[in-house]
Amino acid sequence: MYGQGILRGLRITLMHFFRTYLDDLRYGLRKFSSNENFAQRQGPQARGVFTVQYPDEKLAVPERFRFIPFLIVEDYDHPERPGHDWCTSCGICAKVCPPQCIWIVRETDPQTGRPKPEPEAFFIDIDICMNCGYCAEFCPFDAIKMDHDYEMASYDRTSHHIFDKEKLSKELRYWRTIAPTTAYEEMLARGGWEHSDVIKERKKEARNAQKVPRAERLAAQEEAGTAAANGADEAAAVAEPVAAEGTSEDPEQARREQKRAEMKARLAARRAAKKSN
Ligand code: SF4
Ligand code: SF4
Repeated sequence: MYGQGILRGLRITLMHFFRTYLDDLRYGLRKFSSNENFAQRQGPQARGVFTVQYPDEKLAVPERFRFIPFLIVEDYDHPERPGHDWCTSCGICAKVCPPQCIWIVRETDPQTGRPKPEPEAFFIDIDICMNCGYCAEFCPFDAIKMDHDYEMASYDRTSHHIFDKEKLSKELRYWRTIAPTTAYEEMLARGGWEHSDVIKERKKEARNAQKVPRAERLAAQEEAGTAAANGADEAAAVAEPVAAEGTSEDPEQARREQKRAEMKARLAARRAAKKSN
């Protein structure tokens, strides 16, 4: 029947209207009391329509939300490398960035003058950044990630919107807080919570530690082999005079001695033949 769809639409609108007030009554003043209530009211169970009173209220962003990139550094209470940059200044992020808003200066060793795998300076112009997330996608060291912080307005765009290394750097634990699932998946892919270089180094050390006992074992085997050979020589040296004397009464031993004597005789004959030639 004509007009049925319009009536159904009006019914849905009216239901949202009344549910909005029912939801308000259900939560009362609690709706402003905690972030938990607020997140629940925005979830799939929420009924009705309500206005977000920004900036007093803020919408909870999903884990995959992305805004401006930030650089991961080791936790400041890390036992070995507190605050160490994960970035190796390889420059891949700067190369893939479509609007070219990343600048990196690589650190150099003051003694040798050779480049070091660390950034001396790292800048991102957040006015040019288009939040595409390519830098984070392509970084081979998981060193750059997309932040959830979107409140960056200021009155001065010349200096405030060029983020330097200090402003961009955030601890690994911050990334684990805002994106626990992704951080966990990355950890599994790397093989640990450490930087991939540290993990590689640890694996190498473990391999070397296994190699040492093997080398020791080989040396011990070689030593044992030499000792056995020396023992055999000594035994032969002892057995020879015995055979020469022919004192053995054991028939088997006598047979062996006889064979040895025959071999010796054959060898002596061969040598004599060679000399005469
Ligand atoms: S790709 Fe990653 S490691 Fe390479 S310069 Fe960018 S942030 Fe640093
Ligand atoms: S998010 Fe995109 S535009 Fe922004 S710095 Fe990364 S690659 Fe460049």
